Amino acid sequence: MVDKILTVCPYCGSGCNLNLIVEEGKVVGAEPANGRTNEGTLCLKGHYGWDFLNDPKILTARLRQPMIRKEGELREASWEEAIRYTADRLLAIKEKYGPDAIMGTGSARGPGNEANYVMQKFMRAAVGTNNIDHCARVCHGPSVAGLSYSLGDGAMSNSIPEIEDADLLLIFGYNAPVTHPIVAGRIVKAKQKGATIIVCDPRKTESARLADTWLPLKGGTNMALVNAFGHVLIEEQLYDKDFVAKHVEGLSEYIENVRSYTPENAEGITGVKAADIRKAMRQYAGSKKAMILYGMGVCQFSQAVDVVKGLASIALLTGNFGRPSVGIGPVRGQNNVQGSCDMGALPNVYPGYQPVTDAKARAKFEKAWGVKLPDKTGYHLTEIPHLVLKEDKVKAYYIFGEDPVQSDPNAAEVRETLDKMEFVVVQDIFMNKTALHADVILPATSWGEHDGVYSSADRGFQRIRKAVEPPKGTKPDWQIICEVATAMGYPMSYKSTEEIWDEMRGLCPKFAGASYKKMEEQGSVQWPCLTEDHPGTPYLYEGNRFSTPNGKGRLFACEWRAPLEQPDRDYPLTLSTVREVGHYSVRTMTGNCRALSQLSDEPGFIQISPEDARQYGIEDGHLLKVISRRGKITARAQVSERVKAGATYMTYHFWIGACNELTVDVLDPISKTPEFKYCAIRLERIHDQQQAELQIREQYESLRQQMLAGAGAHE
Ligand code: SF4
Repeated sequence: MVDKILTVCPYCGSGCNLNLIVEEGKVVGAEPANGRTNEGTLCLKGHYGWDFLNDPKILTARLRQPMIRKEGELREASWEEAIRYTADRLLAIKEKYGPDAIMGTGSARGPGNEANYVMQKFMRAAVGTNNIDHCARVCHGPSVAGLSYSLGDGAMSNSIPEIEDADLLLIFGYNAPVTHPIVAGRIVKAKQKGATIIVCDPRKTESARLADTWLPLKGGTNMALVNAFGHVLIEEQLYDKDFVAKHVEGLSEYIENVRSYTPENAEGITGVKAADIRKAMRQYAGSKKAMILYGMGVCQFSQAVDVVKGLASIALLTGNFGRPSVGIGPVRGQNNVQGSCDMGALPNVYPGYQPVTDAKARAKFEKAWGVKLPDKTGYHLTEIPHLVLKEDKVKAYYIFGEDPVQSDPNAAEVRETLDKMEFVVVQDIFMNKTALHADVILPATSWGEHDGVYSSADRGFQRIRKAVEPPKGTKPDWQIICEVATAMGYPMSYKSTEEIWDEMRGLCPKFAGASYKKMEEQGSVQWPCLTEDHPGTPYLYEGNRFSTPNGKGRLFACEWRAPLEQPDRDYPLTLSTVREVGHYSVRTMTGNCRALSQLSDEPGFIQISPEDARQYGIEDGHLLKVISRRGKITARAQVSERVKAGATYMTYHFWIGACNELTVDVLDPISKTPEFKYCAIRLERIHDQQQAELQIREQYESLRQQMLAGAGAHE
């Protein structure tokens, strides 16, 4: 008997709908469904990314049993024992050091919005702290902060389907064909319909190859280029004076701040020709429907929030809001990173972006949850190493569906942080590098095994559905968290994800009308959705009323700052982290899919220019050492003409060639997002390639065996 279960792809924020094909209780395939964003198409991760559900143990093993560390070893435990132990240790730490000594994460991956709602409620109501954050902090944190300031909502103002009807797409630091292939399809369609494509990126990415104009700026000079865009719009009187007068504030200060960023001055900083800067802005301002799309090339710098505000200002100056196919789109990376933000897995806001510092909002949540809530903003995830190692303030970490040892900068420091903590809980589906440092491991059900809701990158709530029974010994994330809360003396229990969802929307005006019923009927409901009879909102700011306190958009520009760690004699090259199309995030899911794991494997690659390859005597495919001030790894050279001399690129999916052993933990001062896109490295040639290949295989196998043992599994 074959069943087809409609759900949403668990990989990127495109939110593609697919049918899982289930035969005799086992997932055997996937086929595209007619979702709002994908309209019957899928990329290769959507087609082949279901296989990890069958636990083929290619990379790491499925967690099937709670584990407690005893005498240094992770040992199997009963659920009762694991929940009691977790609750007792957290209570003891809370008693001794106070609630702010405990940090928790949400999860932007498989668990879904309901589990994130429950997790942030647990941290706030049961533990008593706002120390809840998640991996948006290392990706689109600057979008939430920057767009909230400029426009009032930290989300895409537009919808993914609208992309193909734009007249002009200004794509900044965003390589859609690799990160969101189905969004890239919309960009290609826009081009086929005659749109002009302008791409700003230091590397000749797949996006750049689609462009009519490619602006190959130097890494770390985004703010100078965005200021120059603003300068041209003002100097050449290309901005929409009527729109700005009615709907925007801050013009005179903005003019002052961009005055010195003439295209000629900007050329000196960015390397982009002044004439190209002028041409790009003439085209942008001359277009009737211009849309900005951006990604990690904007957000993963230490001046990211400023650049987000600067890009929003370009759209504000030209009146590109309040209509279809215009606006600004931070295309969220992971499948539910928008949702984890929506659900308040952030240290400064409750679900629905209601500030924890707002007494009225706090009183509402206190009443609903029956407990006094803390009134100060919690810690950011990326501050934890400093707070543990330097300030000794955080003692326990409840890590839910994240793998910071693999995904966060300066991995050695992350390991040291985890080892210094008194208590680390990891709740996940697979054994991972972080779980090797855990005191307790709580095994959860996966996407495909539970119900819930994801938010796509364009604010679309969509149902995910259970297709198969989870492995014995696992529990849904929300249920585990409720059991820990109850054991800590704050009873939490729900009968279903729908009950959690209904509690959440009862507290969040923006989401109030987005019921399960409406999602079933419409397929997708985009917030704001204020009432039961409201269909949802494809694009924001209709009538040009922004969600800022006075309803006006806010212009912003400021001085460009260079990235902190510059290349020098000892570390003469720069490193930027990027993605590859076949793998996702820390790779525990895609690395455990037979088809996807064959596309690329350990140790991962480093892209270098032909000039640098010649200088260092490195050939394409050779193994080499990559060294920064923080670590040293082995990677395989990928010599590419798409890369400028002096710059290198690595993905963060691999264990051996783990680029985060090298990256720097410099943070944006506002969003606390790390500068993954810029640090200094050097390369060292390896003379005995055969020996190096052998070492890689041994290292990889040893790590795999460690992981299998950690999960209590054997081959
Ligand atoms: S584009 Fe993203 S959501 Fe769509 S199938 Fe690919 S990975 Fe899944």
